[in-house]
Amino acid sequence: MSTTTLLRDVRPWGGEVTDLAVRDGAVIGPVTAPPTGEVRVVEGRGRILLPSFADVHVHLDSTRVGLPFRPHTGTAGVWNMMLNDRDNWRGAEVSMTERVTTTLERAIARGTTAVRTYAQVDVDAGHERLDAVLAAREANAGRCDVEIIAFPQAGLLREPGSIEVLDGAMARGADVVGGIDPCALDRDPVRHLDLVFGIAEKHQAPIDIHLHEPDQLAKFSTELIIERTRALGMAGKVTISHGYGLGKLPEPQLRALLEQFRELDISMATIAPPTALPTLLLAEYGIRLGLGQDGQRDYWSPYGNTDMLDRTWQLAFTNGFRRDDDIEHCVAIATAGGRAVMGTAPALASALDRPGLAPGDPADLVLVAGDTVTAAVMDRLPDRTVLYRGAVVADGLELTGEVAA
Ligand SMILES: [Zn+2]
Repeated sequence: MSTTTLLRDVRPWGGEVTDLAVRDGAVIGPVTAPPTGEVRVVEGRGRILLPSFADVHVHLDSTRVGLPFRPHTGTAGVWNMMLNDRDNWRGAEVSMTERVTTTLERAIARGTTAVRTYAQVDVDAGHERLDAVLAAREANAGRCDVEIIAFPQAGLLREPGSIEVLDGAMARGADVVGGIDPCALDRDPVRHLDLVFGIAEKHQAPIDIHLHEPDQLAKFSTELIIERTRALGMAGKVTISHGYGLGKLPEPQLRALLEQFRELDISMATIAPPTALPTLLLAEYGIRLGLGQDGQRDYWSPYGNTDMLDRTWQLAFTNGFRRDDDIEHCVAIATAGGRAVMGTAPALASALDRPGLAPGDPADLVLVAGDTVTAAVMDRLPDRTVLYRGAVVADGLELTGEVAA
């Protein structure tokens, strides 16, 4: 008989203290009598039990986490920033594989066990960055689920060979086809999106599109995305990342788009910038929303520290939330919401849904210190324990060495 792990004195979602049993990688439920057979005890010490974090918009191949800070050298605009990265990424102090792996491991140690990451594929990098992400996924297979988006950061039409690199990345092990600013970057939105959707259809893969475009341009690109999602029967398979230009639209135009997101189950990923779409508006329409770290301390930006609890604070802060239920909703987005974007959990039923700890749910869990869930978000204390499929993979912000079978 397999071992039962007993999480003693834990508070699911900050509620009453209980003992929770976990077995064969899944939550069994609260226990009142000691379990029979072999039992391993994890001391909760009254900490809050949450589903572990899901980071669904992270560029693991764009990181200088753990390396010396360098002055920012980029200039404004996606193309210029991409060129700045291109000039510098190979010159980092350690290899790309080492950077990706240590960044992923730091995220796991802080409570993340589900990741949807980009790997930039273009005519400069080829599949070098993708291979580093594939290696980091392999090295952490017993600690974390990693889904990889092949990401054409430099567009598809500006440099010959870009399409072949993207198509090849899907054959090489990427899971999701990426796209970016169909109007602003490639300046031919129909062709860009037809290519992205075509490659997705060929590989039977979902799509994730970075959309940094301003209001009416974002609306136009979004309408083309909706059109293709509907025509190709890709409901539930398309994610729009950022989309903050949509937040600047007149409310009737925005609501008309969100109606179609709901109809086609188009999900969204945010990194919680000050200009994001209002979180509660997305919840009102039942739109699947996940949270992510984006690039971290890289050639694009000095921000990011692998800690999804920090990013959850940022989501609450940028929404202007004060109420406990609103801040807890941010935690639900950062945990179960991200899994819904990855397709491994249902959408949040409402802004008051606190899922992820029911019998049968995967034992992908994090214990955090705090009087309440809101307090845990405000304090972001280091006293954390992280479980992946029931294995205690991290404790006190360090990997334990244990991995799931
Ligand atoms: Zn991004």
